[in-house]
Amino acid sequence: MHEMGIALQVLAAAMASLPGGPDAAVRVERVHLQAGRLAAIEPASLQRCFDMVAEKTPLSGARLHITETPVIGKCARCRHESVQSAAVFSCAACGSCEIEIISGKELTVDAIELAVSP
Ligand SMILES: [Zn+2]
Repeated sequence: MHEMGIALQVLAAAMASLPGGPDAAVRVERVHLQAGRLAAIEPASLQRCFDMVAEKTPLSGARLHITETPVIGKCARCRHESVQSAAVFSCAACGSCEIEIISGKELTVDAIELAVSP
């Protein structure tokens, strides 16, 4: 399952950014993620998987807040970089379809929000 692997990655990245390390007595309320449109993440199912893998960690019960980032392609012909919003990629400058995707598949943990009281 695609989302399970992602949930584990998110958990590892969020644990690494906990103040005081993974054993700190804190609780995380929200995790902000940036996901490229091509990562094709289904928020509800990612949340379900995350709930499972985050059990018994400081991230147990944390909500995932996902911001979708655009797909950026670079034209192989004229080197122009443009946002790709259609299903078929093409260059905004010259119309070529030889597009190299330079951004849009990544998933990054942007920020974590700690709960105010334990
Ligand atoms: Zn071009």
